[in-house]
This record gives sequence, C-alpha cells and structure tokens, in this order.
Amino acid sequence: MALDTLIFDLDDTLYPPTTGVWDAIGERINQFIVDNLALGTAEVIQVRDELFHTYGTTLRGLQIVYGIDPYKYLNFVHNIPLATYLQPNPTLYQILKQISNRKVIFTNSDQNHALRVLGQLELGGIFERIIDVMDVAPFCKPQPEAFQHALKLLGNPDPTRCVLIDDSLRNINTARDLGFYTILVGNHNGNTHAASARVDTLEDLPLLADLPFLEGIWRQE
Ligand SMILES: [Mg+2]
Repeated sequence: MALDTLIFDLDDTLYPPTTGVWDAIGERINQFIVDNLALGTAEVIQVRDELFHTYGTTLRGLQIVYGIDPYKYLNFVHNIPLATYLQPNPTLYQILKQISNRKVIFTNSDQNHALRVLGQLELGGIFERIIDVMDVAPFCKPQPEAFQHALKLLGNPDPTRCVLIDDSLRNINTARDLGFYTILVGNHNGNTHAASARVDTLEDLPLLADLPFLEGIWRQE
C-alpha cells in the first residue's frame, strides 16, 4: 500500500544539533525559568529536567505546574538570532522536492519559530502545513494523544501509511506504537533502536530509497 504523508520534526531534524540552535533555545529556556519562577540558576536544570520528563516538554510542565502563559514562553525562548546558526540548504531542498508525497511539519515548538527556521533554511513551499505545539494542546510529543490530534488535523490518514521522521527516540517510540513507519535522524551511536530506518542527517534520505516502505515516493525525472 502506498505511503500517504511524511511527517517531519523540525528542530535537530531539518538541521543537525551541531548548529547550536537548540543550545541557544536551551539558554533562553533557562533564562525564562530564572526570570519567571524566581529560581536560582543552580535549581533551573533540575526543574527543567523534571518538567520535561514528567510532562513531555518544559512548556507543558510550566503551564500545568506554574500557570505560565504558553505564548509568552514560546515567544521568549525562540527569540534567538537564527541567521547566526542556520544557512540555506539547497541540497536538502532538492531532496525534499523530489518526494512526491504530502510533507508536513509536526513540532513541539510554535508556528513562528517553525516559519523562521524554514525561511532561514530556504525550504519554502516544501511543507503543506505546520502542526505546532499549540495545535495539539494540551498535549505534546511524545504523548500518543498529540499524534492522534495531528492525524485528525491531517484528515485522518491511516498511520500505517505515514512516516514520522524525528531525532527523538521518545517520539519515534510513540509513533511506532501507533503504527507509523519511523525514520530516526541523528547518530544515536549508530543504533537504529526501534525505528524502521535511521539516517545521520536528512540529506541521507535518498540512501533509503530501496526500502520497501519508501518505494514510489521519489518523483520520476
Ligand atoms: Mg527534534
């Protein structure tokens, strides 16, 4: 059965973690917690870690436990000079353009950040839509409810005809349990874990062209 939709994560998937974007966002998250929760810098890492592991994202934890306004948080933490970290990626543009299936973004960040990242990488026109963390509220990846909500927003495609492409093992595991094909992005010590396939970076996607589940997704020249 032919594939329907390819669902791409954004951060550390469309660009590698070595760019420093996520580190910069992490610094802003720490600063936000220091400013808004009146915590010392030493306590911040522990609080962040607890919130992330209990609630899926730091944001959801801050909302539930501390009543933080999500928009205030999202605007603050993503306010980084992206052009310092990301350059246009015409190679990736060409690779993604060759894939004929519907392609969407599903991110635990917000629309604004996603649009800025896509703009900076010059990947405009590739993705049909962006599903962000507010679209699946009150859930977020890796919660199964977030994936189910995303599927609904996509018109309920059969998950067994969708692929999740993500650098997070937690997200990959949920997607697999829901029936998705999965492509894990990043090194992960070369271990594919439970994913259907693994690539170091998205530029390696064409190396998977022979996998049966990806058959027929590439446009004929
Ligand atoms: Mg990611």
